[in-house]
Amino acid sequence: MLRDTFGRPLGSLRISVTDRCNLRCLYCMPEAEYVWLPREHLLSFEEIARLTSVFGGLGVTRVRLTGGEPLLRRHLPDLVEQLARCPTVQDLALTTNAVLLAPEAPALKAAGLHRVTVSLDTLRPERFRAVARLDRHQDVLDGIAAARAQFGALKIDTVVMRGINDDELVDLLEFGREMNAEVRFIEYMDVGGATRWQPEMVVSRAEILDRLTQRYGSLAGIDEVSSAPAQRFRLEDGLAFGIIASTTAPFCATCDRARLTADGVLLLCLYATDGTDLRGPLRRGASDAELSEIIHSAWHQRTDRGAEQRLALADRGTLVPVDQLRREPHLEMHTRGG
Ligand code: SAM
Ligand code: SF4
Ligand code: SF4
Repeated sequence: MLRDTFGRPLGSLRISVTDRCNLRCLYCMPEAEYVWLPREHLLSFEEIARLTSVFGGLGVTRVRLTGGEPLLRRHLPDLVEQLARCPTVQDLALTTNAVLLAPEAPALKAAGLHRVTVSLDTLRPERFRAVARLDRHQDVLDGIAAARAQFGALKIDTVVMRGINDDELVDLLEFGREMNAEVRFIEYMDVGGATRWQPEMVVSRAEILDRLTQRYGSLAGIDEVSSAPAQRFRLEDGLAFGIIASTTAPFCATCDRARLTADGVLLLCLYATDGTDLRGPLRRGASDAELSEIIHSAWHQRTDRGAEQRLALADRGTLVPVDQLRREPHLEMHTRGG
């Protein structure tokens, strides 16, 4: 089995299908202007499906479509259908802001999508306008209802920011209960693009647990062996939720995730400063064996543990300055897919 220098297998692939987005979340796209990837560089669905099958040959069984906002990519269900047919893909998921989800959910389900995760940071429309800076809250709620209707259950991911939405932990959990959605609270990360990040705004896993204990009483950790980033807990009444403590308790030691940008760059870490171009070889006619060898060699040499290295820094500020992000849009979270 293919393993990196720390013995970590390659198990999951996050595919960004576009770097564009219809929201401007404070923690991801806070700037007024962005430099986009050239459209002719975007991989076609056939190219994505071919690469997915090559990744499958190297151990990838879990695939997640992301972006930018993946539902901005036209005819996304066609890609889902191609990926669902790929024999190595055992788990096919989508992460979306849900603005465009309601009308697309039936086609996504019919195409073979297994699971949906919706990013939702607030239940309050006026706060949504402040955090996402567009007036689409009702569309998101409609999207969540549609996902529930089509898929039965879903996940909700919430980035917790001090002074912005950290007073909504209980409300979001209770909303999740109503929607049959497992809520996962994500610590605010200092990734590329999070140019407003400050350490004081991070609400740690310990603090989140403390606040929920005050409201619900004792919480039980759910014991499970998993490479998934969320640590899961259960309230006394049985409701499960997760916390993704990427900032204060990184899980690099078990990270089996590769990332593919919309223009075909392979990234081995959310914090990686460079990647491996797969589009060039793909479009120059490389065989599956040649593509596999490029990916194999990159993963075999992988030493990344970005979040752990960030945690070890004494003085932690913005990861990448804005002018560098303009020159190198691949460093943006919305380009690498979160
Ligand atoms: N647009 C889609 C969405 O928002 O679900 C998919 C792409 S988005 C980049 C993927 C995930 O990254 C989202 O759940 C978002 O909350 C998360 N994210 C973006 N910036 C983040 C940050 N600074 N800290 C923690 N999570 C972040
Ligand atoms: Fe928000 Fe996702 Fe768009 Fe980033 S890519 S601005 S997290 S909706
Ligand atoms: Fe994986 Fe990098 Fe995130 Fe660590 S920081 S969990 S190595 S993607």
